[in-house]
Amino acid sequence: MNGYIHSIETMGTVDGPGLRYVVFTAGCMLRCKYCHNPDTWDMKNGTIMTVDEILNDYKHYEPFLKNGGLTVTGGEPLMQLDFVIELFTKAKEMGIHTCLDTSGATFNSKNSKFKQLAKVTDLVMLDVKHIRNDKYFELTKGNLNDTLNFLDFLSKKETYTDVWIRHVIVKGITYVQRYLYELGYHLGQYKNIKALDVLPYHVMGEDKYKELNLTYPLYGLKAMPKENALKARMVIEAGIRDRILEDKNR
Ligand code: SF4
Repeated sequence: MNGYIHSIETMGTVDGPGLRYVVFTAGCMLRCKYCHNPDTWDMKNGTIMTVDEILNDYKHYEPFLKNGGLTVTGGEPLMQLDFVIELFTKAKEMGIHTCLDTSGATFNSKNSKFKQLAKVTDLVMLDVKHIRNDKYFELTKGNLNDTLNFLDFLSKKETYTDVWIRHVIVKGITYVQRYLYELGYHLGQYKNIKALDVLPYHVMGEDKYKELNLTYPLYGLKAMPKENALKARMVIEAGIRDRILEDKNR
């Protein structure tokens, strides 16, 4: 099966456990204001590659990826759901650890293909971009329910999958005490969440917008200091703890 691929990184260190072979798929339906990869938005800009081509290439790097595996990120990989399912199915047959980095956009519990996906995915890195519906839409033009429903689906016995949560903190948008707490409070109900990554907003994407003749929506906004990620994390963790305690006492 063909996929539209933006690029491949053979020694990724931040997209899942260990050293990883990272496939960036082309195409994304969201328009996050802080997106630093606007060049991945259009699927047609991708290079067509088959599942076998990718896995054959993976084999060249396999000796270096012992504690890692294969990550698919984007763009939004779920735009090419069939392709990801076939890629991960064959990867699992080869004993490769599979990780999907996604916002959950397009998730639909009635689509049985998501069950197939869960079966062949070892880890989902789920990007929760905002915890309020209206703010999520303002920030991404997408629907928060897709993300939260996907998280819920991954917590069920039949489709159980480990999840790492990712959350980008942006001044005045997500770096707001009550939103961070609400996020933690929501996450606290899930036992399949194994890690939390709080990522400070950075401005590395600005130049790409210029090259593509696009207006950068957050132009002028300064990068978030790294230490604020720690502060935000503490607030999210307070929400998680409160939820766990409340659920225990119910
Ligand atoms: S989901 Fe990722 S690729 Fe898509 S717009 Fe948002 S940040 Fe950019």
